[in-house]
Amino acid sequence: MTKRLLIIYTGGTIGMQQTPAGLAPAPDLAAEIRHMPELGQAFQTHPPLLETLSYDPLLDSSDMTPGRWVQITRDILQHYQHYDGFVVLHGTDTLAYTASALSFFLERTDKPVVITGAQLPFAYPRSDARNNLISALEVAANMPASMTQVCVVFGSRILRGNRAIKVSAKAYDAFDSPRYPHLGTIGIDIEYNRRRRFPVGFGNFTRHGQLPPDDAVALVRLFPGFSATTLRAICGNSNLRGIVLEAYGAGNGPGQNQDFQDTIRDAVHRGIVVVVVSQPLDGIVRMSSYAAGSALARAGAISGRDMTTEAALTKLYYLIALGYSADNIAKNMKTPVAGEMRR
Ligand code: ASP
Repeated sequence: MTKRLLIIYTGGTIGMQQTPAGLAPAPDLAAEIRHMPELGQAFQTHPPLLETLSYDPLLDSSDMTPGRWVQITRDILQHYQHYDGFVVLHGTDTLAYTASALSFFLERTDKPVVITGAQLPFAYPRSDARNNLISALEVAANMPASMTQVCVVFGSRILRGNRAIKVSAKAYDAFDSPRYPHLGTIGIDIEYNRRRRFPVGFGNFTRHGQLPPDDAVALVRLFPGFSATTLRAICGNSNLRGIVLEAYGAGNGPGQNQDFQDTIRDAVHRGIVVVVVSQPLDGIVRMSSYAAGSALARAGAISGRDMTTEAALTKLYYLIALGYSADNIAKNMKTPVAGEMRR
């Protein structure tokens, strides 16, 4: 390896140790990495080919916040000129949200940004931490230039960051992208699917953006009997600017529930953008397929097409952070800006 790479350690199982309260992030991971026989040398060169940046505090990724997405973004941009690629070590629980968020907040990267983690801590027997780390470093160093983007490397898969979702709490292939082909496969060789080129860049957050409050967005999953009262209570929050609605199948909701439809209509009139995504892992929203879906569209909800929930939520948050009006947010939610949805 002759490329210069920065490893950003944010926390997660990959570096956790057992404590009386259960597994918790431990600061030692950076030191462990330096002592890996495969990597040790790369820290000794001048300038070093590998460097680590450890966050304080390290997080179980269940504590991740939009503020941290921006911190990772800023750290990558601050070090952008000095490295050829970046590897972010992250807990698996919310890794797909961070991968999606970075794909928007980074706007345009011509250097690979690879996010990985592990199902078992580094120090455990049969841990996947070493393999995932080394694969992530290789991808960060050697991803074809035409493909450079924010991606997830985990187990045997290379996935577009804003298409990835966590699909298993047990398997070493913990992530998948059921609505988009894999970017590549990790076996004896690392094979890239070169047709999956770099998606267009977008936005100007780092120059003009400002983080909205965390409650500017909400996620609502429909279930039979879902009450309009609950939705009204959520929409009553004056900070709310957007809702991701996880609807059924092709984007269907309770079409005969007038109270529910009226609540959506009122929210949209008040400038809240309502984006419909599909609950099934491989679902695609086509709201005109069923009357139950067109009712949502008539009430003013917009289609998130094949976006994952994670991508829809982080994209919404990003567009709000750019200071866009509701109309502009709605327009951009319907347009692919970083390969997160089909055209
Ligand atoms: N709770 C852990 C985390 O997300 C799980 C993991 O990393 O696998 O930080």
